[in-house]
Amino acid sequence: MKQRQKPYELQIYEALLYRKVFSSEEMRKYRILQKGYEGELQFDRCVENLPGEYLRLRDLWLPHRYKFFQIDYGLIINNTFFLYELKNYKGEFFYENDKLYLTSGKEIDDPLTQLARADSLLHQLLQELDIHIPIQSAVIFVNPEFTLLQAPRKSNIILPSQLNRYLQQLYTDSRVDPICYKIAKKLKQVALPQSPFQQLPDFSFTELKKGLRCQSCRQLETKIDGKMCVCDHCGEKEQSQSAILRNMEELQFLFPQLKLTTAVAQTWMGIESKKRILYVLNKYFYKKGKKKGSYYIINPDKQ
Ligand SMILES: [Zn+2]
Repeated sequence: MKQRQKPYELQIYEALLYRKVFSSEEMRKYRILQKGYEGELQFDRCVENLPGEYLRLRDLWLPHRYKFFQIDYGLIINNTFFLYELKNYKGEFFYENDKLYLTSGKEIDDPLTQLARADSLLHQLLQELDIHIPIQSAVIFVNPEFTLLQAPRKSNIILPSQLNRYLQQLYTDSRVDPICYKIAKKLKQVALPQSPFQQLPDFSFTELKKGLRCQSCRQLETKIDGKMCVCDHCGEKEQSQSAILRNMEELQFLFPQLKLTTAVAQTWMGIESKKRILYVLNKYFYKKGKKKGSYYIINPDKQ
């Protein structure tokens, strides 16, 4: 099964981690993205245990008449479109008068409201695309440590303890109707490449902390010792070549417009040895330009 791609926003935050001092708001946002992604992976694992045939649509941003909505998770099975809003909340919550609260009394955004909006816009969009398929929507709380006190008796809330049973009753031995492939394809065609509501932190090359990131703890406290890159923080040992390559890819991901020269790479990773960097650059990248003005771009054939 195809591994899901991390959301672009989360990838940016991860590439900035320890390089930029996050404000408390940025830290909060990073944690939310991380938790959301973990929840999606967890749900993926549950779905992958389903024995029958199904189609998945994950993390799609769709437009409809100048409004945007997200399909957190769509499952097409039994000729029905199941639209899910996934929540990886942990701890105790309660519903009162159709509002969701933490046990401390703090009100939080009700995922049912979010779901109702996505459900309505998806209906409208499918109608406009002349696609006819019944939709069933639900909020799924994936975290086993989530407890909902006074849970409203609504069929569109799936609690962690109900999840396996819920998925099992979706099981079918019939194949996915070819028309469903067309529906999935059509939705992917109209989907936006990224979330229109991205809030990315500001950052610049000069401001970011330089160093070679450890693959295990993600800190920048590593040093190169012969052929190995050793982390002072967690003790991880990695081939220095692969550590350098990963850090250069991260640099290109954060600054796609920046010309990757040997000097830029040296500064980014805080590596004195030019030879070491040139070796990796020549092995995995294309060289563009001549002599002094030369720079490198990632060569997908060499990866
Ligand atoms: Zn480490």
